[in-house]
Amino acid sequence: MNTQGAQVGLVGFPHDEGVKRNGGRVGAAAGPEAFRRFLPKIGTLVNREFGIDLQPLKVFDFGDVKAGLSLEEGHKELTKRVLSVLRSGAVPFVVGGGNDQSFANCSALLDHLQESSASSMAVVNIDAHLDVRPLKEGGLAHSGSPFRQILSDPRFIALNGKFVEFASQGHQCSAEHWDLVNDRANATIIPLSALRGYSLGGLSHQQKHARGVEDGFSDLLDGTIGESVFVSFDVDSIQGSDCPGVSAPATIGLTAQEALNICFLAGHSPRVKMVDLSEYNPSVEDYRTGRLLVLMFYYFLLGYSQRHTVS
Ligand code: MN
Repeated sequence: MNTQGAQVGLVGFPHDEGVKRNGGRVGAAAGPEAFRRFLPKIGTLVNREFGIDLQPLKVFDFGDVKAGLSLEEGHKELTKRVLSVLRSGAVPFVVGGGNDQSFANCSALLDHLQESSASSMAVVNIDAHLDVRPLKEGGLAHSGSPFRQILSDPRFIALNGKFVEFASQGHQCSAEHWDLVNDRANATIIPLSALRGYSLGGLSHQQKHARGVEDGFSDLLDGTIGESVFVSFDVDSIQGSDCPGVSAPATIGLTAQEALNICFLAGHSPRVKMVDLSEYNPSVEDYRTGRLLVLMFYYFLLGYSQRHTVS
């Protein structure tokens, strides 16, 4: 495939063994296929509302990792494919699949950043959960473990990697894992309640983040957490009424509009080197969720089209 001049590279990861290992409902393996089904209806390429023309943008489809591989083989293939997208100069946009894909994706980015002598990087996990669970017996990765794997990766440590948990929901995170993240000097938790400014009678201790979801996210892209940022978006952070097609639909969460605005901002910032979307499960609900995910990609492209390179 001639990928010369590619700016954004789509990759699919049709695997949900990691969800199964984590005790979740399987079905996310069909995520990329369903996403591609809705893709032709992505939206008008000339958007008069925002005054943006997407036609000059070079978006390439780098295809799906083969289905039916073992999860370990699948992760290896995914890392290879994402690395080839990065080497082509494009920003990978990876659609899963379980959230375990995020370590395989990050692994490619870490290799690429080392190749390009980067000096700093950050991972932002937009997720109701923290996903820092230990590996299963035998060292098996799963959908709840990717960020624990990243935090202990020597390449991440060598790059002085920073980690941010964004829109976390305290009732869905164990105290042990909350403390594990919170106690690290290179990690921050920005809970959903803090972004919204809910004080619950003064119980919330994170009022400093109470700037709203968009401004809170925007702050992360100002360069202080790292020059290269991986935005990992687990769509179960979006409220279930807007995004029902996930293993465990959330009662509360980000709104669809907030998810779109985050994707626009991620596309817009030249610091964002990679995005992944995890946990779309079309066997739970395909249409509303599939349309939302494709629209998230569209908003990412709208943002990307307005991207300026920093010197
Ligand atoms: Mn997750």
